[in-house]
Amino acid sequence: MPTTGNMTRKIAPILFFYLASALAAETPADKYVEYLPGTMPLILEVPHDGTESYPGVAERTNPKGFPAFRKGRDTNTAELARRMQAFFLEKTGKKPYVVVMKLARKYIDVNREEERGVENEKVAQVYRHYYAKLHEAKNDAIQRFGKGLMLNIHNSTTWQHDVYFGSGGMKAVKPLIQRAGFNAYGGEFSIQQALADKGYEIPGYKNIPQEQGPTGNVNRALTWVDKDSKLDAIEIEINSKKHMETPENLEKFAQDFSEAVLKFVQRYYL
Ligand SMILES: [Zn+2]
Repeated sequence: MPTTGNMTRKIAPILFFYLASALAAETPADKYVEYLPGTMPLILEVPHDGTESYPGVAERTNPKGFPAFRKGRDTNTAELARRMQAFFLEKTGKKPYVVVMKLARKYIDVNREEERGVENEKVAQVYRHYYAKLHEAKNDAIQRFGKGLMLNIHNSTTWQHDVYFGSGGMKAVKPLIQRAGFNAYGGEFSIQQALADKGYEIPGYKNIPQEQGPTGNVNRALTWVDKDSKLDAIEIEINSKKHMETPENLEKFAQDFSEAVLKFVQRYYL
């Protein structure tokens, strides 16, 4: 008959196996953050296309009355980012980083400071994990390529024209301006110009008057630039009614937008 000591020696590896499996299992924070690593200095961030709910957690109610409280989804922006990654891989052999929040905005808004975007401690873990992944992408890109561009991708049903660009008055693209000149952000090789050339209505291009674009994420973009002077950040707001709501519209827009971004990235980041 085996002694207790022998039994322990036999059982211990099995116990260890189960414990290790349990520890390696996906945490809720992992589950709600989609992270596709990249191989080029472009990061696509999708904060508002989440559809999942957090079991046992109530929807946000904004008890402190913060301004710009929103719970609506930016439909299909995650699909756009995934299609862009596939497009870049096909055209260049390289992939942009993609970071997507999969938890619905009813529970979390990662496009706000944590105290504004989260009302529950479990959800706060998801918020922090999302930012950890964004930092991972940013640090990896800067370390490998010495520069980087983050596109914060949103859409809205309220915009009149096709696509709006937010850069905090170009403060969020300061590294680009310093490196490539004042005209780099909005000039001949810009994403804006490429889209305008394809017939899209872009404020400030062709016959479309300049107008106040998105402001919500501009400050968020600026926080990235403040933390690392090598990263540029541009907020993209797409007219979802015109470009994101049917499969045909999404397919055409994904193609045109990817081509416009590729032209800009090849000029200034590759
Ligand atoms: Zn949004």
